[in-house]
Amino acid sequence: VESILDKEKTLELREKHIASSCKLFFKADPIKILTARGQYMYDEFGTRYLDCINNVAHVGHCHPDVVKAGSDQMALLNTNIRFLHDNIIVLAQELTSLFPKQLSVCFFVNSGSEANDLALRLARTKTRGTEVIVLDHGYHGHTQAVMEISSYKFNIAGYGSRPEHSYVVPVPDIYRGKYNDKNNPGDDFGLLYAKEVKNAIDKVKEKGRKVAAFIGESLQSCGGQILMPPGYLKQVYSYIHEAGGLCICDEVQVGFGRVGTHWWGFQLQGNDVIPDIVTVGKPMGNGHPVAAVITTPEVAALFYETGIEYFNTYGGNPVSCAIALSVIDIIKKEGLRENATKVGQEIMSKLEVMKKKHPLIGDVRGVGFFIGIELVKDRESRQPATAEAQQVIYRMKEHHILLSADGPDRNVLKFKPPMCFSAENAEELLSELDVIFTEIEDTRNENIKLPVCRSANGKTDRLGSEPISKKKKVAA
Ligand code: PMP
Repeated sequence: VESILDKEKTLELREKHIASSCKLFFKADPIKILTARGQYMYDEFGTRYLDCINNVAHVGHCHPDVVKAGSDQMALLNTNIRFLHDNIIVLAQELTSLFPKQLSVCFFVNSGSEANDLALRLARTKTRGTEVIVLDHGYHGHTQAVMEISSYKFNIAGYGSRPEHSYVVPVPDIYRGKYNDKNNPGDDFGLLYAKEVKNAIDKVKEKGRKVAAFIGESLQSCGGQILMPPGYLKQVYSYIHEAGGLCICDEVQVGFGRVGTHWWGFQLQGNDVIPDIVTVGKPMGNGHPVAAVITTPEVAALFYETGIEYFNTYGGNPVSCAIALSVIDIIKKEGLRENATKVGQEIMSKLEVMKKKHPLIGDVRGVGFFIGIELVKDRESRQPATAEAQQVIYRMKEHHILLSADGPDRNVLKFKPPMCFSAENAEELLSELDVIFTEIEDTRNENIKLPVCRSANGKTDRLGSEPISKKKKVAA
């Protein structure tokens, strides 16, 4: 595949015409990707990169069945949902069959942000409440309404401050969070963290206001790959329901079988944990913009009673629905959930072994193809190894493996690859990590040099030199 522009020109024109708040991966030395297949991406020289981060290319980049489903339908018809069409119905039937039976009604939209924005409207309409309880470091999208419930964004210096209707509760991170296995060994973390939600509800009541919703991812990806402690969501949902609020579960990033054993992350918390509204997106279209809100007939009916029509020009169009249907079909027929369970488990057990050897690793946690490796300066203090995490991802890139770092201190290596990631790929990833961890540990006492970024105005910027909470953040 030929590139239209050479890389220098691409960078130059990008700086001129693309808003500088749109950040690049590896901004010190961005990669120009021209093609991709399965779990591999290729740059303009045909160099192959092993992709460990693109959770959107869920069934593999450019899966031929997805491409065919989209192009076949595009050649036939694409229009809005005011005309009767089977694709939207068949997709709604297929999608809801993957959820507990109460969740039987869908709204189709084009992005995760739109899905969460609509979820919020549904919750406020149903409850007549205004206040929203949100997890610290949570991210739910870029529209004004969802930015206001995304503490990952409104925590940033320069944004302003926490909107009055958002109540931030600590993320149930048992390694680094408010309650953790160092200071509170043996405690019931699910209950301790859920109590924080109860406290937030009490604050809402003290103000004479009403809770509309609790929103949280079922596994927090932006907050640094956090798994909810057992019992957490059950208790939180019960407190919220008692207060007359609704529970919105954001599965935009982690849904569609990434956790392996289940289709949705909330199911890891038990069969009796059922949100009122679930939002899905990213992997749903394997790169094509399609997302959805799934809710109960009661919530949808009250929204209808407002008398305001819900219309979305592109949401639920026949092409997007054909694509989403083929994604679900591929997950099933290629056994991708089973693959995530098996290969994910192998990776986790090998990382546990590596942890014994590498003091740089403070914690490893994960399920299926959702894994985080938290790097620390030393295990006793658990001081985040922010610069080292950046060093790892840049060194991995030199070895043609794409990883990212996230979490409030940007010290958690994030693994969320396409679901066709194989056992051989896992071997390659782990052996390269082993080499790079050793390299960094060997130079521990020397000053780590961070990659220097170029920028439009000629200024330089060292990556990862401070925790994310004090810096502007890159896109989620
Ligand atoms: N929720 C979560 C958990 C996400 O990770 C994202 C995207 N990073 C969104 C919502 C927003 O989705 P989109 O970018 O499709 O609007």
